[in-house]
Amino acid sequence: MTDLHRLSIRELSEGLAGAKFSSRELTEHYLKRIAKLDTQVKSYVTVTAEQALAQADAADAAIKAGTATALTGVPIAHKDIFCTQGIKTTAGSKMLDNFISPYDATVVAKGKAAGLVTLGKVNMDEFAMGSTSENSFYGATANPWNLGHVPGGSSGGSAAAVAADLAPFATGTDTGGSIRQPASFCGLTGLKPSYGRVSRFGMIAYASSLDQGGPMARSAEDCAYLMNVMAGHDAKDSTSVEKDVDDYVANLNGTAVKGLRIGIPKQYFNVAGLDADVKARVEESLKKLEEMGATLVEIDLNMTEAYVPTYYLIAPAEASSNLQRYDGVRYGYRAENSVDLMDLYKRSRSEGFGAEVQRRILIGTYALSAGYYDAYYVKAQKVRRLIQQDFLKAFESVDVIAAPAAPTTAYKIGANLSPVEMYLGDIYTIAVNLAGLPAINAPVGFDKDNLPVGLQLIGNYWSESQLLSVVHQYQQATDWHTKRAAIAEENA
Ligand code: GLN
Repeated sequence: MTDLHRLSIRELSEGLAGAKFSSRELTEHYLKRIAKLDTQVKSYVTVTAEQALAQADAADAAIKAGTATALTGVPIAHKDIFCTQGIKTTAGSKMLDNFISPYDATVVAKGKAAGLVTLGKVNMDEFAMGSTSENSFYGATANPWNLGHVPGGSSGGSAAAVAADLAPFATGTDTGGSIRQPASFCGLTGLKPSYGRVSRFGMIAYASSLDQGGPMARSAEDCAYLMNVMAGHDAKDSTSVEKDVDDYVANLNGTAVKGLRIGIPKQYFNVAGLDADVKARVEESLKKLEEMGATLVEIDLNMTEAYVPTYYLIAPAEASSNLQRYDGVRYGYRAENSVDLMDLYKRSRSEGFGAEVQRRILIGTYALSAGYYDAYYVKAQKVRRLIQQDFLKAFESVDVIAAPAAPTTAYKIGANLSPVEMYLGDIYTIAVNLAGLPAINAPVGFDKDNLPVGLQLIGNYWSESQLLSVVHQYQQATDWHTKRAAIAEENA
């Protein structure tokens, strides 16, 4: 079959179970596509062809033996922030260019246990800091919809790989939008789960109170399959919740949209810099949901102006602490010929970290320093609580909250926005992480340059199933999620 890459996860699952094709055939098909097309997209940092084929053969044996799960033999790409035993894990950094983890992240281990086949590790902004994937030591990844544009970030490699059909789905992480914004820029569905729903064990830390892994795929249904694997309590992550997981696939069909109260925050649609096409597509999608039985309710989220300053204190503060471990001693990059220990630290960190990471370590260290701690870090924590309360108040009168995922569509590669301009682009995503809420991006059309636009729906705690099923029903009634970039239409 030449069009295996067009099949949904459900179709792949059924096809493998019904022996219409083998996991080896499917895996070879994807490896061939990667070899041919990823020279243009540059989504993979590492392709693990040999291991993938061995996993595919094991999957085929399991299917024959009747011991397969729903996903046995389905290929996946992992963001290069998830530790993979025996395979390089770089976090997009020179600091970890030679790092081979001695263990698997829980998300990776669960994927293996479910029979997923790892195609490789995909590109990202260094330590997940960025919105374009250009902050990677391995260079920029291209947006499959227009190779001159970025795929977004930090999970840009995950988004680009799926949008170019170089993987059927991928893992991502979201500290301040890094699943939702690249999903939006690449026309995909991506779910950021509630904080604590997915284990962070073995996921390289950026800002630990915000970091959360989640699925990136073409549709809500595809994401639901991956959520069934990723979600759940993990004794190795003390912040993961001991709460039953839903069967996200089984829950997709229901009457999620009928009677759904969707909050429309006044402040969100008056943000300076909100692109007219993005606004129009989002409004059209809300109209469609209204036709399907939802009610639109105008709400206030009064803390909107505080989102960017609060996130850009808390995230760098936590990052400066988390990144102290990269000192050139036990693992990671080490500068040559240092004259003493201080020189070793200084040079290893100056040479090993890129500019954006260094900027954030400086900001974060400053905010945490003795004389400024109360004025910056403590104050930001207080504002963070107010932001959370603002959402909880809104959820007293609505079920979900609608927003764009980003104020614009994908930037041009090399657009070279100032750090502050770049940070302002995170306005719609970061409050969700500060509050620990779940949120989903769904593709809802294109701008005048044929770049995808995304609708974000924010839910109350643990409402992942509801978000997936609302988007699933929207996707049953529309076809934006089936549109493919020209490069995805190419055969290998
Ligand atoms: N743009 C955000 C940042 O740079 C994205 C972070 C993320 O979600 N990893 O911090």
